[in-house]
Amino acid sequence: MDKCPFCNILSGKLEGTIVYQDEICTAILDIQPINPGHILVIPNQHIPDLASLPPDTGKQLFAVGQKLAASLRLSSVQCTGVNLFLADGKAAMQDVFHTHLHVIPRFEEDGFGFTFSPRYAELPTRDELEEIGFHLKEALKIVQKQEEQN
Ligand SMILES: [Zn+2]
Repeated sequence: MDKCPFCNILSGKLEGTIVYQDEICTAILDIQPINPGHILVIPNQHIPDLASLPPDTGKQLFAVGQKLAASLRLSSVQCTGVNLFLADGKAAMQDVFHTHLHVIPRFEEDGFGFTFSPRYAELPTRDELEEIGFHLKEALKIVQKQEEQN
């Protein structure tokens, strides 16, 4: 994991501002923050993607993210709202392939937002929702079966 910037921060080869650390995860300040105080919560182990993330590690990432969100609201950082964001895969804008949970302080008119596709304005029909729901439930059965086998 020589080229992973997060592993290099964890090992001390790269500088990083660590704001929290426990036996499972570490929280560092993003070097290219969306807003000042933008934090990344990373597993201490190199875990490239969501599929490889042990559920207990995921729970801890979220629990720490929740604590940090509360801390941001109490701190001197401008923060009247928070986004928790996890990108899984290049298509989802994952840029570092060491899973990380973004804790992004937000305030009114901070200039950050999501861009929606033109499709967003066209609401799916009830039948379309049911069909997608059916296929997802079938896929979930496969995922659960795979988990049972591991
Ligand atoms: Zn890594």
